[in-house]
Amino acid sequence: AAPQQPLTDLTPDQLAEFTAGKRAAYDALVARGLKLDLTRGKPSGEQLDLADGLLALPTGHTDGDGVDVRNYGGLTGLRELREIFAELLWVEPEQVVAGGNSSLTMMHDSLVQMLLHGPVDGMPWRGQDVRFVCPVPGYDRHFTMLASYGIDIVTVPMEADGPDVAAIEALVKDDPSIKGMWIVPTYANPAGSTISHEKAARLAAMPTAAPDFKIFWDNAYAFHHLTEEESKTEDIISLCSAAGNPNRPIMFASTSKITYAGAGVAVLAASTDNVAWYLKHYQFASIGPDKVNQLRHVQFFGSAQGVRDHMVKHREILAPKFAAVDVALARELDGLGIAHWTRPTGGYFVSLDVMDGTASRVVALAKAAGIALTPAGASFPYGDDPDDRNIRLAPSFPVLSEVEAAMAGVATCVSLAAAEKLAG
Ligand code: PLP
Repeated sequence: AAPQQPLTDLTPDQLAEFTAGKRAAYDALVARGLKLDLTRGKPSGEQLDLADGLLALPTGHTDGDGVDVRNYGGLTGLRELREIFAELLWVEPEQVVAGGNSSLTMMHDSLVQMLLHGPVDGMPWRGQDVRFVCPVPGYDRHFTMLASYGIDIVTVPMEADGPDVAAIEALVKDDPSIKGMWIVPTYANPAGSTISHEKAARLAAMPTAAPDFKIFWDNAYAFHHLTEEESKTEDIISLCSAAGNPNRPIMFASTSKITYAGAGVAVLAASTDNVAWYLKHYQFASIGPDKVNQLRHVQFFGSAQGVRDHMVKHREILAPKFAAVDVALARELDGLGIAHWTRPTGGYFVSLDVMDGTASRVVALAKAAGIALTPAGASFPYGDDPDDRNIRLAPSFPVLSEVEAAMAGVATCVSLAAAEKLAG
C-alpha cells in the first residue's frame, strides 16, 4: 500500500522499496494488455442516444413564423431557436445568431473577418502586429487557430476563479498589439474553473491600449453541470455594456455536447452592432443555415427549460465517471505530495498536474500499458508545457468500467514516474 506521507520525506531505502513496488504494479498493468482511451473529449454513445428524438423530427417543415425551413434564407437563424438561446445566455433574441453545427467555425469566421475587414470598431488587423491573450492550460484549438494566422499568443495562468486578471490588465493596458483574448468562462477546458463576477467585471471594464480589443467568450460548457449546484456564467455582454465597451465581447456556444457533437446547432451572441457586423460579412459566405436542423432542435427542446432538463440526463451519465477519476487518483496518490487534480463541477475534463518534469513520462508509461492519454503539453500553445506537468483527462467517452480501469493504471504511472525521478 502507498505510504501516506510525501515521497520526498522517504529515506533512500524507503524510496527504493516504494519504487520497486510501483514497478511491479506497473509490470502487472502492462501484462493485462489493456486497450483504453482517455483522450477523447467527446460525448459517449449513451449520451448521443439521449438526443435520438431528433431523428424523428422535425414534424412538418414550417417554423412558428410560417417559414419553410427547407428553403434558402434566414441568415440569422430561426427566431424560436434564437429565443431559446437568448433566455439561456441572458441576452435579447436580436443579439443571437443561430448558425451551423460548429461554434468553432463561428469563432474562426469572426477572427478572419477581423483580420480581413476589421472588427466593428476598428481597422483590419491584417498587416498589424496582432497578439492574443490566452489562459493556460486552455483549449488547444484556440491556440492552433491563432497560430494558423500568425497571431502570437501571450499566456496567463488559469486560476480556480478564472484567469489571472491582474496579469491580463497589465498586458493590455499599454500594448496596442494585444487585440483580444480567448476565454472559456464556464467549466473551462481543461481546468474546470468558472470565472467569478469580480474577474468578469474587471475584464469588461479594463482599459486597453487597443481601442478595438475583443473578448472571445467561448461558452462551450455553459450548461454542462456535473452537480446539482449549477455555476452561473457571468453576463459579460451586460457588464461590457455597462462599462462603456459594448462591442468588446462576442459569445459563442453550441449544442455539440447537448444533442449531437457533429450535428448540433451553434450560436453567436453579442451587441446588436456586432451581430450586424457579423452578418454583413457572413452574407457572402452563406444564403442561410440548416434550418431543418434548427427546427428539429426547437421541437426537441420546446423551451430553454427543455435544454436545462436535457442536461440533467447528461449529468447522470457523466457524474459517476468524473467521480471514478477522483476515487482512483485519491486512492493511490493522496498524501504522496506528487500530484494534484481538479474536481470539476462541470464540463468535460479533469486537469491533472503531476510532479514537474514527469508528465511526458507518465503519458509514455500509460501508452506502453495500453492507456491512451492526451499528449503532455496539449493544453498549452505549441504543445509546450514549460513545466512538463499537466495532463488533460477526458473521462466522458469510455464506459464507467473502462474509466475506472484506465484511471487506476494512470495513478500507477504517476507514482512510478515520480519515484523514478526522485530516485534520480
Ligand atoms: N470550445 C471549447 C472550449 C471546446 O472544448 C470545444 C470542443 O471540445 C469547442 C469549442 C467546439 O465546439 P463546436 O463543436 O461547437 O465547434
